[in-house]
Amino acid sequence: MLSRAARKLASCPSASMGSVGIPRDQRLLGPLLEGPSTPVAYFFLKGRFAFGPSRLSLLRKNLPMNGTMLQSSTTTLWVNEIFYSIQGESTFAGKPCIFIRLAGCNLRCTYCDTTYAFSEGVRMGIEEILNQIRSYPCQLVEVTGGEPLLQHPVLLLLRRLCDLEYTVLLETSGALDIACVDPRVHRIMDLKCPSSGECHRNRFANLEHLTARDEVKFVIGTREDFEWAQSQLQGSWTQRVGAILFSPVFGVLEPAQLAAWILEKGLPVRLQIQLHKFIWGPNVRGV
Ligand code: SF4
Repeated sequence: MLSRAARKLASCPSASMGSVGIPRDQRLLGPLLEGPSTPVAYFFLKGRFAFGPSRLSLLRKNLPMNGTMLQSSTTTLWVNEIFYSIQGESTFAGKPCIFIRLAGCNLRCTYCDTTYAFSEGVRMGIEEILNQIRSYPCQLVEVTGGEPLLQHPVLLLLRRLCDLEYTVLLETSGALDIACVDPRVHRIMDLKCPSSGECHRNRFANLEHLTARDEVKFVIGTREDFEWAQSQLQGSWTQRVGAILFSPVFGVLEPAQLAAWILEKGLPVRLQIQLHKFIWGPNVRGV
């Protein structure tokens, strides 16, 4: 059964057979990439926009991990921005890093600081993306969003980056399946806390797939969030995962307050601040 958002799209006069063609040079993606209120997944395959559970399983079948169905020379992604900066989060914080921000997100977190990525993007070929990042003197790359896993061909981009011996980070909300991501990628996955408004979208099955290469991040805005995050620190994944990050919502919860709570409870987690916001300010894009 299609979600309300998918039904709305299906009833659009320009839609047919459950898919919508996207103008090749469309700069603003508008509602096509704006998040639905239900957990429908959006994927792009060879310029087509597909949705709904049946399409999803079809696309999965047609996109093996070895990428034989999709060629990097002909496959495209909607890219919001590519830039070179200092990594502000995760255990890689402080290192020079190339960021590839993909467009679109299926969530609407209350504290989101990249809302511009919901609907702004240009379509770029995977080889075009790789050529652009080769111009930076850096071997660390993060693919982020928005929600990068919404665009299924991102799996091919991640694999190509690994093949080129980049150290590859993937930032994901944790609401979509992470199992098919190349195992060489460092997955930095959120578990959404209550004040995000998207706690019900956490895909807890993802925890089974985490390894020592991966990191789990809790973005904490309130004491309730902190206590919820603390209550999640159980199960074998906490021993397997490379790091558990507690990050205060910038401008909402003081890092010193979160530090005090962590110390009070003696939690085996890492306090993380968004370093780039302290260096360049909270509203500067492309850093
Ligand atoms: S998942 Fe990330 S990009 Fe999407 S709404 Fe939440 S904070 Fe914003």
